[in-house]
Amino acid sequence: MSNNKISNWLIFKRLGQFVKPYKCIFIIGIICLSFVGTLMPSIITMVKPVMDIIFASSEVIVIPFLKYEIPRDAAVNFLALAIISLALLKGVFDFFSKYLMAYIGQHVTMDIRNRLFGHLVYQSLEYYSNNPTGQILSRITNDVKYLENSIVKIPARFVRDGLMLIILLGMIIFFNPKWALMTILGFLLIILPLVLFSKMLRNLGRKGQQRMADIYDFLSEKISGVRLVKSFSMEKEEQKEMEKANKRFISLVLKSEKIDAFQGAFIEFLAISGVALAIVTIGGAVIRDSVTPGDFFLLLGYIVALYTPAKNFAGLNQELQKSLAAAERIFEILDEKSPLVERSNLKILKDFNQSLEFRDVSYRYGDGDLVLKNININVPHGSIAAVVGPSGAGKSTLINLVPRFFDPVSGFIAIDGKDIREYTVRSLRKKIAMVMQDVILFNMSVKDNICYGLGEFSDDEVRKYAEAAYADMFIKQLPDGYDTIVGEKGVKLSGGQKQRISIARALIKDPEILILDEATSHLDTESEKLVQDALDLLMKNRTTLVIAHRLSTVRNADKIIVLEDGKVREEGRHEELLAIPGLYRRMFEMQSI
Ligand code: ADP
Repeated sequence: MSNNKISNWLIFKRLGQFVKPYKCIFIIGIICLSFVGTLMPSIITMVKPVMDIIFASSEVIVIPFLKYEIPRDAAVNFLALAIISLALLKGVFDFFSKYLMAYIGQHVTMDIRNRLFGHLVYQSLEYYSNNPTGQILSRITNDVKYLENSIVKIPARFVRDGLMLIILLGMIIFFNPKWALMTILGFLLIILPLVLFSKMLRNLGRKGQQRMADIYDFLSEKISGVRLVKSFSMEKEEQKEMEKANKRFISLVLKSEKIDAFQGAFIEFLAISGVALAIVTIGGAVIRDSVTPGDFFLLLGYIVALYTPAKNFAGLNQELQKSLAAAERIFEILDEKSPLVERSNLKILKDFNQSLEFRDVSYRYGDGDLVLKNININVPHGSIAAVVGPSGAGKSTLINLVPRFFDPVSGFIAIDGKDIREYTVRSLRKKIAMVMQDVILFNMSVKDNICYGLGEFSDDEVRKYAEAAYADMFIKQLPDGYDTIVGEKGVKLSGGQKQRISIARALIKDPEILILDEATSHLDTESEKLVQDALDLLMKNRTTLVIAHRLSTVRNADKIIVLEDGKVREEGRHEELLAIPGLYRRMFEMQSI
């Protein structure tokens, strides 16, 4: 994934775009937060009149401004009621602010996840070979989760805690500027180490995220490649690797837990010492009669209440940095342009009557060497072209260029003489079906797997095509027939069975161009015979480009293209090529076709 740094401002602007659809809810949430921020200090302020009344010497209380006298008990009851009402109001605003911000956080991250998937699903195959699945998954899950957390926390810290801080400090200044100064200094003494600690924690957190991504990567690779792990009896070694990766991860987590635990204890000690100092200072003033007991409790209340918003506010920047980092990682994926650029004014590919051609096609993966060099091939409509060649010659790369899984770096592929890039990818792929060696099935029913991406078909139609693909016979024997769920956790199907499902899929699609990668050795004899018969039927009356491994295919091919080292070395029919002492004859003699 690219590492271009995006400016913070730009990240904010882009995040803003995601919040925009929820603007109204966001504004209501902010209003609720500001009520919480103001109501909290108001409740504390009520302590003063209560205390003053309790410690008052007269039995009647004169209400300020109104000059109205009420008994002391009634005044206490009234104030208690007022405190309850304010607390209730704060509770209501607290509830709505939390729920609304969570609502926005969930929706924004849902939208981001959808956008990410929508973007990823269009990425080229090359993108996936450059970016490990685990890293991508970790960004979609971990980083998005992180962002959600920040979307909820940051406005709350900024508005609610910011307001509380201003009001509480304002009140202390109003009472006694000297004490206010002392309070601020005291808080700085607490907050500064806190900022330092959180910086350390953030660095550890970032490393932790990366190590978690490594674990995701390891898991996705080893679970999807479990067959390889088993075939080399590497279970124990892989388990050790996993333990190592896990240890690396938890050593970081424990480090940050240690700092967190120390910071908690240290800060609490400082805070309690600060409160003790405040008690001594303000208590002294009470003794000297310069402040009332009400003032004493009020100031103490303000100072204690200052702690949480001050701590949250101090952590605001850290939170912001963390979410900016997460957003940056997410935007990196969204900014990754698909190398497959669709030109404007594209046409729909409707007819295919003459030929499929490779014209001077070259291709390289990333910045590597050319793996296909000036390839020229002409496959006339309705013919079979078989591609053969040693492993690594470029056969798979060649066939993947036809459905535009990636585009040539120079030259082009033409259908009836026209560059395929002049047509929409969708209309091009509609004309092509691929049957590959490794058939991918999704975790859904056999029927849905056969019809995937092809629209609705009746059970009878699906059965008809499955019969033609020699698949009906084994599908019928599955526990739920065509409704049996296959795929990851479903019924286990053999390689040959999966291939016959994929052939049924291709038959339903009824493509004009067929791209095949014949199975090599992993089919048993019976399966191989069935797959061959099904493939022969599928190839009938179509234009086929096939990576051939079977003698019968090369014999029947109208043209054999011998690839070596990314170049077309020989071209002709089976008999023609056998007649010349070249690579094809050597391969044929070694039975490696
Ligand atoms: P074949 O199908 O004939 O075995 P390929 O088309 O798979 O050959 O590979 C041709 C060359 O391209 C090989 O040298 C291979 O290492 C390289 N190659 C294949 N896939 C990738 C990839 N995703 N990234 C980089 N190089 C690749």
